[in-house]
Amino acid sequence: MANDARHVVVLGIDGLRPDLVTESTMPHLVALAKDGTWNRRHSTVFPSETRGALTALATGATAQVNGIAGNQFYVRGTSPDQVFTETTHDWWAADERLAGDLVKAPSISEVLHQAGRPFAVVTSSGPGALPALNWKGQQRGQTGFNVRHPQIGYPHSFAARAHHSLKIPAGGISADGPMTAFRVFEREIWPYDKPATTILWCTEVDSVSHLHGLQSSQLLEKMRGCDDVIGELRAWRDAQPERDNITLFIVSDHGHVTIGGTVNVADALCQVGFKAAASFNDDATQVLVRPGRAVGLWLKQDDPALLHDIRDFMMAQIWFGGAFSPAREPGSTNGMVDGSLALELLGAGGERAPHLFIHLGKMPAGDQAGYLDPVFYDPGDYDLRVGGGTHGGLHRGEFTAVLAGYGAGLAQGRVSDIPSSITDIAPTILSLLGIDAPKTMTGRVLAEVCGDAPESEELASAEILSAGGCKNTLLAGIKRQGHFHVSEGGIEGC
Ligand SMILES: [Zn+2]
Repeated sequence: MANDARHVVVLGIDGLRPDLVTESTMPHLVALAKDGTWNRRHSTVFPSETRGALTALATGATAQVNGIAGNQFYVRGTSPDQVFTETTHDWWAADERLAGDLVKAPSISEVLHQAGRPFAVVTSSGPGALPALNWKGQQRGQTGFNVRHPQIGYPHSFAARAHHSLKIPAGGISADGPMTAFRVFEREIWPYDKPATTILWCTEVDSVSHLHGLQSSQLLEKMRGCDDVIGELRAWRDAQPERDNITLFIVSDHGHVTIGGTVNVADALCQVGFKAAASFNDDATQVLVRPGRAVGLWLKQDDPALLHDIRDFMMAQIWFGGAFSPAREPGSTNGMVDGSLALELLGAGGERAPHLFIHLGKMPAGDQAGYLDPVFYDPGDYDLRVGGGTHGGLHRGEFTAVLAGYGAGLAQGRVSDIPSSITDIAPTILSLLGIDAPKTMTGRVLAEVCGDAPESEELASAEILSAGGCKNTLLAGIKRQGHFHVSEGGIEGC
């Protein structure tokens, strides 16, 4: 039954790696989790990139269902270019190109609107985070604001008020993003709207991880800044007359690993005679390459022989760290390409899936320069260098994420080892609000952190290995109630 008195506030810390959270780095977060809940086996979606992960959070579904397969991807038969999600304009241009079908599943914004309840998102991120979290929310009269890019705020009456009362310059603020985002909520959203759900999303930890690496003082400083906001958020909640009906979640969308070596996969393919490029704008191009930690490859035409040649080349490289392709047949764990695993195991199959996803591997031992989890990375056009952080792949450091909860409807002092996913957050929020989740929300309600559900159960670890070849792709995880939950992926040694 709908519970109109309930409210949920989610604070998202982009790129926060859970094993870096300690009493000394983030004391407020540790205290909140101790008094509330902490999911020890929480993971994101594949690829572990922000805009895909935020869409998964908002829709409660993986890329296979919601259509947003990472920060950029190719959609067959619509344009020779990839779909990008970096700016608001990218989202709308892609939606136009796809006849209104860019995001293929309803998000929490839409579900709450249908239930007649307000929803708000405030970010201090790049401009593409707001459409990911509140897609078409402006058209529904929901609230959106970005303290670094205030011109994309809505509705106008609220945005004008927030601008003036918080003295946000027309060009956006450059410091104190997380605290400013919180103040926008506290002063200009909550007293007016009391949203059923509010998401505050802060990018600062991710940005400094990329730039300065996982062991930098800059990262510790930004983590501390976000932790201060957690302290303020909890104090705010505890001071409200409605506190017994307010639930808080602290989450992240992925972790980070260290760039130990870079590779340009498109160039590498071209050097051995394949015609590879970032788009199909040149008629001669045979294969479109999407860079990252997981490199997506789309062939212009289905050509099994060419695909196998490309696979053989990839498997011979030192940076090869796993191969994934659409399932051989429905339900199969093997991919169509010999020696690969099915993308469906990662929720990354479907019509927009590439012919082949090549996961980049770990750096060989002895070549680590003291970095935390050094891996190979294809930066594409990004200016990211060795020693900096990155994410997008299946290494445990990047594939795991933070999930802590506190307040109404949640257990107190519960640490859960049951695997959970970023896609479980929206169904859990809706359950706390007493609103039915749409069928497209393939995530589950996290009963183990709500109320009196049993604290633990027997969990069996499991592995899935590709067949054939000396570099076998491996997914490791937990088998629970017939489902395989991936916790990391890579290759098995020869
Ligand atoms: Zn990032």
